[in-house]
Amino acid sequence: MASSVFFCGVRSKTAEDNKGSKIVRLLEAAGGKSIRKGDLTAIKLHFGERGCDSFIRPIFVRKAVDWVKKQGGKPFLTDTGTLYTGWRKNSVDHLVTALEHGFGYEVTGAPIVIADGLKGENFVDVPIKGQLMSSVKIASDVVASDGMVVLSHFKGHVMAGFGGAIKNLAMGCAPAQGKKEQHSARMSVNLEKCIGCGRCYRNCPTKAVSMDDHKASIDEDRCIGCGECLTVCPASAISLDWRTDLSQFQRRMAEYALGAVSRRKRPVLYLNFIVDVTPQCDCVPWSDDRVVGDVGFVSSTDPVALDKACLDLVNERAGKDLFSELYPKIDHMEQLRYAQELGLGSLDYSLVEV
Ligand code: SF4
Ligand code: SF4
Repeated sequence: MASSVFFCGVRSKTAEDNKGSKIVRLLEAAGGKSIRKGDLTAIKLHFGERGCDSFIRPIFVRKAVDWVKKQGGKPFLTDTGTLYTGWRKNSVDHLVTALEHGFGYEVTGAPIVIADGLKGENFVDVPIKGQLMSSVKIASDVVASDGMVVLSHFKGHVMAGFGGAIKNLAMGCAPAQGKKEQHSARMSVNLEKCIGCGRCYRNCPTKAVSMDDHKASIDEDRCIGCGECLTVCPASAISLDWRTDLSQFQRRMAEYALGAVSRRKRPVLYLNFIVDVTPQCDCVPWSDDRVVGDVGFVSSTDPVALDKACLDLVNERAGKDLFSELYPKIDHMEQLRYAQELGLGSLDYSLVEV
């Protein structure tokens, strides 16, 4: 059966139809059964790496917070620490970054809880029936929450092709060890292009990069394939090794996404923002120009249908298969096909304008 995906276009011409009102309409349309009185409700989002500015705006997050409160829930904003070295690796840095990006209580109306603890060590092993894994590591406070609203910025991603609700659940609800389990890429360095800046060396979480004669080299035994070096290299000197099978990465992501929601008492409510669609995710410490004009906002209780609708809406606006053009070596549909196979949702959807 087709899942319902609710949609509001980005254009507004009246005060009643401003973006905040659209967000509330979308929450109302999809979220009727998601929150009960007294529910400690995780609003899962991404606060943006320091230097990024394309994350979801705090004033939009406020709309979700107020809506959860109206349902009787007690909302808190949440995310998990990163695998790589940056400004969200531990709770202290993460909270400072979130506050610097405007996610303070005075704007959003909700406190922040970093779900996997001070150093990313608080997690629960959640059993799943996957083809690759029998259990996944999910941040403790995500598992402990009663209700869940997932706010995702829809955009490109260097290893997944695109990032939406599935990726937000999979990587976003996993502690560093869980993120490590999902990654599988191999990298290679083009020495002719390498300018010896050392960014890959400084950002590698496993010290797999060494600098010899001002050129980077990667120790395959230490590399966990997180892709951070690929992302931060200013000279495009690092690329995915030809041996990399990114479909495995996407399948692991789908299994982690399943684990993030499999124990939930109530339907999870998802809201995707198809605005500021950048080529890379909000983990990078910059935001490139958008690759397509703003499209709008969508909501659903089915993350597979939601992400598929986003892909279709983006491609319609762009007039082409945008993410295949951006990342031709990545079959980005794999995360959705396998998520459907796992029972996480349906690729079949009906789009309802609200
Ligand atoms: S992909 Fe490997 S070498 Fe690159 S940052 Fe990650 S662990 Fe380090
Ligand atoms: S980030 Fe790129 S250019 Fe800089 S040292 Fe590493 S491979 Fe070379």
